[in-house]
Amino acid sequence: MTDEKIRCDACPVMCYIADGRTGACDRYANHGGDLVRLDPLTVIEGGGAMVPFLGRDWDGDILQGDRPFVTAIGAGTTYPDYKPAPFIVSQMVDDVDMITVVTEGIFSYCGVKVKIDTDRHIGEECAVVRAEGEAIGHVMTGEYGSKMLSLGGVDHLTGGSKKEGRATCDALLALCNREAVELTIDGGVTITVQAGHAPVIDGVPEHLMRVGCGSATIGMFALQWAPHVDEVIVVDDHITGVLTEHEAGKQLDMKPAGIRVTGRRSTPGRYFQVANPGTGWGGTDVTDPLTIIKKIDPKVAWPGLRLLMISTTGEQWAYFTLDDALVPQPADIPEALRVVAERIADNCEPSMCSVLFMGGAGGSLRAGVTENPVGLTRSVKEALTRVTVGGADGYVWPGGGITVMADVMDMPSNAFGYVPTPALVAPIEFTMRRSDYAALGGHMDRIRPVADVMNPAIRRVPKGRRP
Ligand code: SF4
Repeated sequence: MTDEKIRCDACPVMCYIADGRTGACDRYANHGGDLVRLDPLTVIEGGGAMVPFLGRDWDGDILQGDRPFVTAIGAGTTYPDYKPAPFIVSQMVDDVDMITVVTEGIFSYCGVKVKIDTDRHIGEECAVVRAEGEAIGHVMTGEYGSKMLSLGGVDHLTGGSKKEGRATCDALLALCNREAVELTIDGGVTITVQAGHAPVIDGVPEHLMRVGCGSATIGMFALQWAPHVDEVIVVDDHITGVLTEHEAGKQLDMKPAGIRVTGRRSTPGRYFQVANPGTGWGGTDVTDPLTIIKKIDPKVAWPGLRLLMISTTGEQWAYFTLDDALVPQPADIPEALRVVAERIADNCEPSMCSVLFMGGAGGSLRAGVTENPVGLTRSVKEALTRVTVGGADGYVWPGGGITVMADVMDMPSNAFGYVPTPALVAPIEFTMRRSDYAALGGHMDRIRPVADVMNPAIRRVPKGRRP
């Protein structure tokens, strides 16, 4: 033990760290006077991004062969950015000399996009999403069968109060490291989100993602329903389907049933806004499906008419027959219809939360790769340089900069860290041919063979696994 504190220079916080202690981010420690990165460097075995992806023999699999791929997880950060990245490694791949530059980038401009497979209404579009009571993002436009959140971003990290920045950083870190985070949505639900797991909405775990909208469900199952029923109404917050009015029912020569649902008619057999959004049937607030029946036309309907009402996941259904006064009365569902209801549920995929990290690597981080930062941007745009995030293939957005997005489920565990500025620390790797690296002004004198990096202390993660 020594009495002297050492100064960590891996980020702008510049912690003084006493012997045996860690810095503010828990990533670096003073070990007998040496500054050490606590998490081991992580290498994906069984292949990596070091492939000649523009070569003729590349089949599109970036994790091919038995080559080790050095990720930036545990690599450390260099600060200020003009210092070369912590690891710049070379490896021969099919007679092509490939370079991978790895660094744990400090991202003030980053966030996550969260896709939540559920029909349930979680909150209005643009509603504020909170963690620990602080605003950390908002609800985005819904997608087909999924609700979407946009969380983090520079405004929440830096533009609000200190508490907001910290809560945002904590939530992003946990989500990116595939931990569960409880979020509340203004005017909406409380939801627990964890990458790779089903969401828990107001304490209730979600099970299934919808098979389709109400109209699509009619399109898929009309043929199986038609011989056994006179009308089917698929309850959906977006597009409720009414079988006999729908083109599918018409083409099957189904007789009009005269049952009119609430809401606004879009096209025949397709209705919008039959109820309010909610956590009931098909993402509506409906718990009793009969409440969406506006009227039953006595000139068209008939006693004994068989009516099936069902949700878009097949989890809720009710079967009725009309009595002499044309009032729906609960009845025993015929076996053939029950089988189709189960088939709808069988056709639904399991509900899942997906977390995609999104960050901007088009800033000063590039200087750790090259003396000519725009050279890296151009090389990425020209597809000469491949960008990965902890070994996960990154989608680079079109347009300016290097705005990259990657699925946290494709990365080894514990891939992310933080610094208290606050900002997220994310692994990022750039892989290219040696000749292309030289052309973009790379730090050629810092290249070392991959064999030099491999040592017993590194963490080895098998390809395809997410330990
Ligand atoms: S917060 Fe972490 S990386 Fe930044 S100076 Fe302190 S120990 Fe180093």
